[in-house]
Amino acid sequence: MKKMIKNNYIEDLIKADKLRHTVNKKIKFGFNVGEKFLGKDKILIAGPCSVESKEMIKNISIKLKKIGVDALRGGAYKPCTYPVRKSVKGWKEGLQKKGLEYLANAKLASKLPIVTEVMDASKIELVSEYADIFQIGTRNFQNYSLLDALGKQSKPVLLKRGTWGTLDEILGACERIVEGGNTKIAICLRGVVGMPSYRHIYPSTRWAPDLMMIPALKQFTNIPIVYDPSHATGNRDFVLPISKAAMSLNVDGLIVECHENPEKSISDPDQAINIKTMKELQKLFV
Ligand code: PEP
Ligand code: MN
Repeated sequence: MKKMIKNNYIEDLIKADKLRHTVNKKIKFGFNVGEKFLGKDKILIAGPCSVESKEMIKNISIKLKKIGVDALRGGAYKPCTYPVRKSVKGWKEGLQKKGLEYLANAKLASKLPIVTEVMDASKIELVSEYADIFQIGTRNFQNYSLLDALGKQSKPVLLKRGTWGTLDEILGACERIVEGGNTKIAICLRGVVGMPSYRHIYPSTRWAPDLMMIPALKQFTNIPIVYDPSHATGNRDFVLPISKAAMSLNVDGLIVECHENPEKSISDPDQAINIKTMKELQKLFV
């Protein structure tokens, strides 16, 4: 893509060799998602915010596969804003190891590859037994010991942008992973802090959709970009329109929170879409 504006700051970082691999357009970034390749094919990742039970994740995985989704998302380890003091049917900041096992069971049933979060370098080995793709949460966007460890292993990494992350910080975080030798990486944009675009309409809206970062990143890097319209809006009514906007800006994929009974979601109930809306959203991929 032709440079739209001169960005001296990034150019200077490149000249100073702070950014080396991420801005090298000859490197092939991305990774396989089943039969497809994120970076070449458009990829749709969907599933609940968190794994809630064995049956729940299995049932939804089968439905999502039928709709044409490419990979199943679901958190077994959930970073929560406030400490969770009481467990709900075994769920306490996720079902944790049990959640991973339920994801493996859902994969058996649906044949969908698994995207799930690893929150801590000490858990990489365990989570990698179950995950096809590591999700790095927004809160760990600049957790450098975690990023460095992910660079030294070979599983794909979906790095979520910190809600504060600037363009150079996004590239810098990716650079840490690639520096270790792992080019199987994608950036996930998921909304940022600031005056959320819709706050004057919906005061409860949490984040501002960060759509401009899509073309801005594409100026400098070939690292595939996945958009998360669920966390970016925090409101299910906006998930489909923001998905359309992101797709029109040529993202490589979407990661969307979907639940059979959205209001009953243990985590992020306001933003989950139902199966019917998911079918609608999948049409963006045909
Ligand atoms: C998630 O995907 O459920 C999640 C916790 O996202 P983020 O890290 O972007 O808040
Ligand atoms: Mn969530």
